Amino acid sequence: MNRKGAEKIQDLQYFGEFGGVNPSISDSSTYTFLSAKTMFDTFEGNTEGCYLYSRHSSPSNLYLGEALAALEGTESANVYASGMGAISAVIMQLCDAGDHIVSSRTIYGGTYAFMKNFLKKFDLSTSFVDITDLEIVENSITPKTKMIYCEAVSNPLLEVANIAALSRLAKKNNIPLVVDNTFSPLSISAAQLGANVVIHSLTKFINGTSDCVAGAVCASTEFCLQLKDVNDGAGMLFGSTLDSLRAASILKNMRTLHIRMKKHSQNTMFLAKQFESEGLRVVYPGLPSHSGHTTFTNQMNSEYGYGGLMTIDVGSLDMANALMELMQRENLGYLAVSLGFYKTLFSAPGSSTSSEIPQEEQEEMGLTDGLIRFSIGLDNDIQATYKTMKNCMVKLGILKEEALLA
Ligand SMILES: *Cc1c(COP(=O)(O)O)cnc(C)c1O
Repeated sequence: MNRKGAEKIQDLQYFGEFGGVNPSISDSSTYTFLSAKTMFDTFEGNTEGCYLYSRHSSPSNLYLGEALAALEGTESANVYASGMGAISAVIMQLCDAGDHIVSSRTIYGGTYAFMKNFLKKFDLSTSFVDITDLEIVENSITPKTKMIYCEAVSNPLLEVANIAALSRLAKKNNIPLVVDNTFSPLSISAAQLGANVVIHSLTKFINGTSDCVAGAVCASTEFCLQLKDVNDGAGMLFGSTLDSLRAASILKNMRTLHIRMKKHSQNTMFLAKQFESEGLRVVYPGLPSHSGHTTFTNQMNSEYGYGGLMTIDVGSLDMANALMELMQRENLGYLAVSLGFYKTLFSAPGSSTSSEIPQEEQEEMGLTDGLIRFSIGLDNDIQATYKTMKNCMVKLGILKEEALLA
């Protein structure tokens, strides 16, 4: 298992053009060639280390890609202008018209909408299944199936995929396992557990400053080059390329990822335990009560913890909204979608990030109206955060009066 993701990132050594400690930023869309022959060869894809045009690759994007490959322990990685840019490129690269996908039913709303609605244009169908039920997953595979797709820890229900077991299933059927590892960077080394392609929305924990949108695909060099192929690479031809300036800025933020993940995990574990002991319905993979607790524990790099996401069900959408507004007024965090920020972010997924999923399907998968998703921040005094949060809940009658804390 790759327990060395963080160390590997820090071991990478870069020198800027003038000996700077950060690599120089490539500020060009196009590159000169000393000979016309080299330009031709570069178009053909046979010249290592030559840059052609920044939609294809740029030095800054390659540096960030190297760090992401080190994070997941893959041969290579490509970076994209968004997580969805990465996801759509991978799917379109692996599937042809008429093909079939077996996907977890609890996935990011945008991914769900892409598979369910957009791929219809190509007569591509998806079976959305309970990814924790390996028998259902296996029975859903048909001769047309081109991939098994899931999130290591799912959005927003925090279901945990058994990556090693899914990988064995995929291998047996000769199809790739594609894992979106956005919720659990460092904690879960998806590629080391057998995923063939690992996707990240860099927008979230990896960048960690909520100032940009970006994505990545970590995979074999062969697959990363296929995505970039000038003739039939989905990444190259859809054009969801990350800007070099932004790639350089994400690389700098990524160097503190290990410290941030540990703190996110510690703070979330503390709050999850407290609120569960108060009798609230808390979902957090770090709690023994969570259905995926054992699976997570068996496949995690334990020093990074169970991640920064938890949910609390407060009973109704009205109550969820009232609590979120009050928590924002009390400066506990922001009523905002997304995750991985230094401040806590909260939203009600049923009416926001997962609203693409029809009501009856939401109910079937256990996505209730009163569910609040928390991305817990890097609060220095989590005890104080806990007290303030608890007082908000008492004020709204979610917790009983005698719980009010001074
Ligand atoms: C946010 C998110 C995405 C989409 O990423 P963008 O950078 O917003 O395009 C995909 N998967 C998961 C799990 C996410 O949380």
